Amino acid sequence: MSDTLAVIEPATEAVLEEVPRAGVDEVDAAVERARRALPGWRGLAPGDRAARLHALADAIGARQEELAVLEARNAGKPIGDARGEIGMVVQTFRYYAGAPERLLGDTIPVAGGQAWTVREPLGVVALIVPWNFPLTIASWKLAPALAAGNTVVLKPAELTPLTALRFAEIAFEAGIPEGVVNVVVGPGSTCGARLVEHPDVAKIAFTGSTEVGRQIAAGAAQTIKRVTLELGGKSANIVFADADLAAAADSAPMAVFGNAGQDCCARSRILVQRSVLDQFMNLMEEAVEAIQVGDPLSEESDMGPLISAQQRESVASYVDDDAPVAIRGSAPEGPGYWFPPTVLCPVAPGDRAAREEIFGPVACVIPFRDEEEAVHLANNTIYGLSGSIWTRDGARALRVARAVETGVLSINSNNSVRVSTPFGGFKQSGYGRELGPHALDAYTEVKSIFYAAAG
Ligand code: NDP
Repeated sequence: MSDTLAVIEPATEAVLEEVPRAGVDEVDAAVERARRALPGWRGLAPGDRAARLHALADAIGARQEELAVLEARNAGKPIGDARGEIGMVVQTFRYYAGAPERLLGDTIPVAGGQAWTVREPLGVVALIVPWNFPLTIASWKLAPALAAGNTVVLKPAELTPLTALRFAEIAFEAGIPEGVVNVVVGPGSTCGARLVEHPDVAKIAFTGSTEVGRQIAAGAAQTIKRVTLELGGKSANIVFADADLAAAADSAPMAVFGNAGQDCCARSRILVQRSVLDQFMNLMEEAVEAIQVGDPLSEESDMGPLISAQQRESVASYVDDDAPVAIRGSAPEGPGYWFPPTVLCPVAPGDRAAREEIFGPVACVIPFRDEEEAVHLANNTIYGLSGSIWTRDGARALRVARAVETGVLSINSNNSVRVSTPFGGFKQSGYGRELGPHALDAYTEVKSIFYAAAG
């Protein structure tokens, strides 16, 4: 295997940059650096660790445009989206900068003395992340891991390593000590697998496909590593007849086609009450046709290309000649992994397009009769990540929100991700929670201490 990796720009298919490709030896060296840096980092006074994380948030904020352009070009996402994502990275470090001084324990009444709990860092934590939101998803893991006193080895996806590499430089310049943040760029099958088996890695925090998540959970069992998994989704956007249909239809397309559909939260199954199906489709057609697919660096673009030729081929396999294409937007011709926003309607719940995570700009509209059938269809999947409910009936909104088996849900909105609220899946969408106060549980162990004080 070549020891350099050509990073491709998906909008042009040209080489954007060549970077060194790591192998097992580089992974071992990175873990060793992280292991050595651990005592110093976990031993910093909580306020000092907080100050360094604030400095890091400042440093990323100062380079927001540079990082956004790099992310837009490498991942093929619109520059406006990339700016928002890097803004979220800043917010995420800012939020967890408050954590070192707030990692509270309990005091517990016991006989013969005093018992209390403290939260200890896990040690060296490996972060394995995908190509769809490269630095943002990394930051959801980096910030709580570092705040809790762990040191990290980050493995970005080979397709999108550039912002991770830049991040490591920025972190060091901002005062994060050497060895605390390490980045290895190499294939999942070697570098990722080595992190999973490495005896000095205490935990794997992973975002990616359910298939690789399954392998990671199995591999981690050998050394009883802690694992959090944020995996695939096939989320339902449930639109009842009594909803504000104009608002629901206006926001449904970008809830699937945002990031060219390469989003684990994509509401890719749009369940519409049959009595308003035609009206909803008419309204949605306008919104789909308005989507501008084009150059990620243009301020006008709403959607860029797919990440790779392989991804485009995989997405296209769901839109064969027999597919019930109801709406198709436009996409550029020529170089670039372009795919037009596509709405299939009606799709039977058992069809492959309705069951599998397409991870591209293809939405399935599935009609339903009543509330009971809507809930049944929404839950008829191996996944359970996010979803939405559109209705003006408050009691129904509450009933359905409790009945739908997903980790994140919105009512009259398609927004699932906030820095301050927990994010993660039910069922085969994974386990563990990122963001919000809950993420810190995934990067600490609870230790219970007893001090004998009997006279
Ligand atoms: P993967 O799950 O293969 O990749 C995610 C990360 O895991 C990458 O860093 C990858 O490395 C690494 N990896 C791959 N194999 C292993 C392994 N055996 N051990 C440890 N790490 C490994 O996702 P893909 O990029 O192949 O995407 C395939 C499909 O997965 C998509 O079409 C989509 O359905 C789903 N997906 C879901 C995501 C989500 O946000 N939930 C994100 C990305 C994908 P590398 O790529 O460098 O080889």
